[in-house]
Amino acid sequence: MLGSLDQLAEAVIEADVCVVGAGPAGITLALSLADLGREVVLLEGGGLAPPGPEELDLYAGEVSGRKYPLRASRLRFFGGTTGHWGGWSRPLDPIDLAAKPHIPFSGWPLERSGLDPWYAQAHQWLEIPANEYFGDRAPPFAGNLLPATLGLTTRYFRFSPPTRYGTAYRDRVAESLRVRCYLGANATGLERAGEGRIRAVFARSLQGKQLEVRARNVVLAMGGIENARFLLNSAEQTDTAIGNHSDWLGRGFMDHPGWSPGTVISQDKLAYHQFTHEEQLVMPVLGIADDVLMNERLVNCCGILHPVSFDENIEKAYFSNPWSGGLGAAGEVSSYRLQLIFEPSPCRASRVDLTEQRDALGLRRANLHWTFNDYDFEMLERSISLINAYLGQTGMGRLKLVKPVNESTVKAPIGTGLHHMGTTRMSAAPSEGVVDADCRVHGFDNLYIAGSSVFPTVGFSNPTLTIVALACRMANRIDQELSRA
Ligand SMILES: Cc1cc2nc3c(=O)[nH]c(=O)nc-3n(C[C@H](O)[C@H](O)[C@H](O)COP(=O)(O)OP(=O)(O)OC[C@H]3O[C@@H](n4cnc5c(N)ncnc54)[C@H](O)[C@@H]3O)c2cc1C
Repeated sequence: MLGSLDQLAEAVIEADVCVVGAGPAGITLALSLADLGREVVLLEGGGLAPPGPEELDLYAGEVSGRKYPLRASRLRFFGGTTGHWGGWSRPLDPIDLAAKPHIPFSGWPLERSGLDPWYAQAHQWLEIPANEYFGDRAPPFAGNLLPATLGLTTRYFRFSPPTRYGTAYRDRVAESLRVRCYLGANATGLERAGEGRIRAVFARSLQGKQLEVRARNVVLAMGGIENARFLLNSAEQTDTAIGNHSDWLGRGFMDHPGWSPGTVISQDKLAYHQFTHEEQLVMPVLGIADDVLMNERLVNCCGILHPVSFDENIEKAYFSNPWSGGLGAAGEVSSYRLQLIFEPSPCRASRVDLTEQRDALGLRRANLHWTFNDYDFEMLERSISLINAYLGQTGMGRLKLVKPVNESTVKAPIGTGLHHMGTTRMSAAPSEGVVDADCRVHGFDNLYIAGSSVFPTVGFSNPTLTIVALACRMANRIDQELSRA
């Protein structure tokens, strides 16, 4: 059932599970729970049409750290930010979930193999028919790639069409007998039922209609900034905001930064572009082998090679310089802009907190302070050196450095993936995070968080495939809990 909160007669309704937010996390979860026989209320703040200024204003806030498009990086309507996502997909690598001695606060409380069955389902939700990423071996259809040696390797991306959840799953939600989805229903608060339990979710439309949802379980799936903002706002009712037992709530905000250090010139035509294989798009990227990430104390990163016909940053004389290895004249070599997507490390100072300003629903607005640990840039610099050395040692090419890592370049604006991660991080110990390995808020029986805010570390893979995998897994966990109760 898909309806509007403003047209609902009741002021109080009940459900097995109340899911807040109808993006990919919330819709996957609600429909999966319904398939398992559970009664779900799905609250969506926006409507079916792309959000207007009034809805988007609820996302307005302040930015005190690095420049960040707080409003433009998310959508508030049915289907969430998949209304304009790009569909780039790949699972996290097993090493992304491992604790690394050189990265404080790294390590998930679960192993990648524990996510494998859920990744298989996530590919179906995102309409990516194949779930195969080829390990370190180049698939037979791949074109000319740099050889996997000296610590460099190849990784692969796949692509969702991209699935727009608002259109792809609208009919299933509307026709479901077990999901009641209310549009224009903005969650504004939670009611506690004593220690460690939530009794109800309060919601309101912008026209003022109010609703109370009494549910056995509550899941927040409002996106990586709103999940934290919503919980931080709960400090208005209680001394400590729900989920802030460890002072991690809102902290550890991460996005995937992009950095283009320069131009790769190569004698060979390299094939780091999208291929169609069995009617599906696949794209190879440069990667760093796991043992090198650990031994050289690096974060994960990948290199995308964009063909450029002529790079004005390279003077013609460069090609005849003996240092360039006699690769050939400017017209005889291929050149590529190297774009690195690197993994930021968890940083407590990078955070969402609250301003004194309030939105139309009375909730305090977000302030985003996006920043990095200094050692992220040291690791980036070492990764660039590694790629440079690799190209030279294999004789495959050279890297002409245009944007080195230095004091002024690291302060300049940096590109982002618009991925909001880390603000309600997962941890084994309550003192190191907000949710446990089941994405349940530490210290609560029936409050869960879905979405990339639970990622404690993020690899370089785009987040949505993992968000959807975790939502599938969560549906299964909640169903088991309900059966036990
Ligand atoms: C331009 C762009 C390109 C991207 N490209 C990629 C890509 O190629 N690959 C990739 O993996 N990711 C990509 N992303 C990120 C991707 O869109 C997100 O990872 C994904 O949408 C997050 O899903 P979610 O369900 O957690 O949150 P969202 O999609 O943000 O959904 C949250 C939902 O909650 C609702 N909501 C918020 N607050 C409330 C409230 N108080 N009450 C009720 N409802 C509420 C919102 O209206 C929304 O429907 C891109 C993002 C952008 C902006």
